[in-house]
Amino acid sequence: MSWQTILGNRSCECDLPGAELEPFPYLSGYGLVLRVTRLTSIEPRQIFSTLGIRMHQTLDVLTVTRRETASRARLETALDLQGTPLLHFWSEEAWSPLRTQRVFTRQEYPVRNCPLCARFGYHCMLFQLPSIDHCPWHGCSLSAKCTKCRQPTYGRFDAGGYLGRCECGHDSMDDRASVRMWDFPTDTANAWLTSYLTWANTERESRHLVVPMGVPCGEWDAGFAALAQPPRQMMNRRSKIDIEVQVFEDDDAEPPERAFWGWCLLGTGSRPVTYTSLPRTVLKPLTDTTRVTVASLLPQDASDAVSGAAIPGLASDRTDFFLEPYCEGMEGSIWLNLAAVDSRILQICGSLVDVVASHIADISSSESDRSWQAKQSAAIDTISGRTRLGAALEALLIRGYAQGLEAVLRRLLSQPWPANHKWSRPVIEVSGGAGQLRAIRVAWQSSDPPRVRPLPTAPEPQTPPSPRRERRLRRNTKPPRKAR
Ligand SMILES: [Zn+2]
Ligand SMILES: [Zn+2]
Repeated sequence: MSWQTILGNRSCECDLPGAELEPFPYLSGYGLVLRVTRLTSIEPRQIFSTLGIRMHQTLDVLTVTRRETASRARLETALDLQGTPLLHFWSEEAWSPLRTQRVFTRQEYPVRNCPLCARFGYHCMLFQLPSIDHCPWHGCSLSAKCTKCRQPTYGRFDAGGYLGRCECGHDSMDDRASVRMWDFPTDTANAWLTSYLTWANTERESRHLVVPMGVPCGEWDAGFAALAQPPRQMMNRRSKIDIEVQVFEDDDAEPPERAFWGWCLLGTGSRPVTYTSLPRTVLKPLTDTTRVTVASLLPQDASDAVSGAAIPGLASDRTDFFLEPYCEGMEGSIWLNLAAVDSRILQICGSLVDVVASHIADISSSESDRSWQAKQSAAIDTISGRTRLGAALEALLIRGYAQGLEAVLRRLLSQPWPANHKWSRPVIEVSGGAGQLRAIRVAWQSSDPPRVRPLPTAPEPQTPPSPRRERRLRRNTKPPRKAR
C-alpha cells in the first residue's frame, strides 16, 4: 500500500497548519502533534479543545499515540483521520520484521530523531526500532538524546506548552524549515519506506520475538537489533553490531514423544519452578559446567577438602550436588533441581516453549480436558523441526546454569564479581509456522550481573546484664503509684 493510497481514504482534509500529511510519508502520531502545535502556535490551554490531547508535563505524546487510547481517538477525530489506515503505522509493531507480542508498549521510550528530519518536525515510528540506527535517506545517526546537553528527549510538553524543545533550550525543530515543506525528500523517503514495509510485512508472517518478561528495553534492544536487521542492500550504511548470535537449524533426528513435557512446566504460569523433569542428556553438560565453574573460583591447588570445607557437601566427585535431589522421570527423563539456574534464563525458556506451542503448532486442536502443559507438549510433538527447539533449550539451560551457579558460589565463598564482569541475556527469534519450525536464533546481549548478596551473619550471643544494670531496669519497669 503506497502513502497516496493510505491518504486517499481520508473523508476530508484538515486545514490546520502542520496537518498536511502528503509531504511527510508515514509521519508518526508524535510528529503530527509536534508539527500542528508548533505551526499553529496555539496556546497551551487550546491544545485540548483543538487536538483532544490534555497538555500536562507528564503526558508523553509518543506513548499515548502508539496504542489505542482515548487521547488518540480524540486526535483522530480532530484531524479528520477517520477512515485512513495511518494510525496503524503509529506503533513499532507495524515496522518490526518480527512479531513482538507488543513488547514495545510496556514502557515509555525517548523519541529517537534524525537531526535533519527533526528540523521539519518529521518523526516516523520506524526510527524507534533498535534495529534502525541511522536515517535511511539522510544517513545521519538516530539519537534519543538532545544534541546539545545529551539528556534523553521524551515526547512531553514543556512548561510553555512546547513539544520538541529540550529543558536546556535546544530546539530540534526549525519552524522556518518546516514551513518550506518542499525541502523534505518526500519521494526518496516514500519509496524507501514503502519497500521496507513490503519486506517487514512478509518477514512478520513467520518470525516471532521472545524477550524476557518485565525487563526494560535497554536489556534486550541490542539483541533485537541483531535479529531484526533489514537486508544489507536496503541500508546506506552498515550498523555496528557486535553480538553473539547462536543459530539452531540443524536437521537432527526428532526427539521422541513427550520429550518436551518437562520443558512445558516452565511456561505460561508465573509460579517459580524448582524441580522439573528434563531429558537425561542435559545432565552431563550440566555436571561438566559445575566442574568448570568450581575450578574457576577455587585456587588451582584446591583439594576436595578445601572445596568441601568452603561449600559444605561439595567435593570434586559431587558435580551433581546443585542439581539433586533427582529421580527417574518418564521415558528416560530425570528430575532436576533448577534452583541454581539464572531465573531469567529459566523464564525465557518457558516463554520460548509458549511461543512455539501457540504460533508454530496449533495448541487449540489439542484435547481440551488435559492440563495446559500436557496440551503444549502434545502440540509440540506434532511439529517438524522440533529437534531445533530441544537444542536451543539445552543451550539456554546450560548457560543459565553456568551464570546462576557462579552467582551462588560467589555468595557462598564471599567473592565479589571482578570489575566489568558481564552476564549474557538471551533475546530469541523463532521462525516458522504451520507445524514447521524453521530455525531458532538466540542473540546474547551483555548486561550487568546481579549483586552478590552477603550471607546473613549469625546473631551475636547475648551477654546477661550486669547486676547494676539489672537493678536499674527493675526500677524503670516499676508500676506507677496509685493516685489517692
Ligand atoms: Zn533523516
Ligand atoms: Zn538539551
